[in-house]
Amino acid sequence: MIDQEIKDHWKDMGLHFGYPDCCIEAFVTGVNKCDTAGKYKLQYTGYVPCKTCNETFTEEQMVENIEINRGEEEPFHKSILRANNFKETIGYD
Ligand SMILES: [Zn+2]
Repeated sequence: MIDQEIKDHWKDMGLHFGYPDCCIEAFVTGVNKCDTAGKYKLQYTGYVPCKTCNETFTEEQMVENIEINRGEEEPFHKSILRANNFKETIGYD
């Protein structure tokens, strides 16, 4: 059982990083964990799309949507590059 304080923190972080409200809500309520685990777009970037966004948008469109709302100084596309380097380093996909 995850307490409300942690959920509120996830919501704040999701908003800060520019993630769409629908995806934040899905993540916080745990929908993604069973639905899209292991097969969602932009995996290993920190962002977990909701089922609808995952099926509706291309990765490029998702990045554009995130960049518009992002409060973080580092653009999202840079954090993706970092995540991809990390994947290569540890040989993980
Ligand atoms: Zn969504």
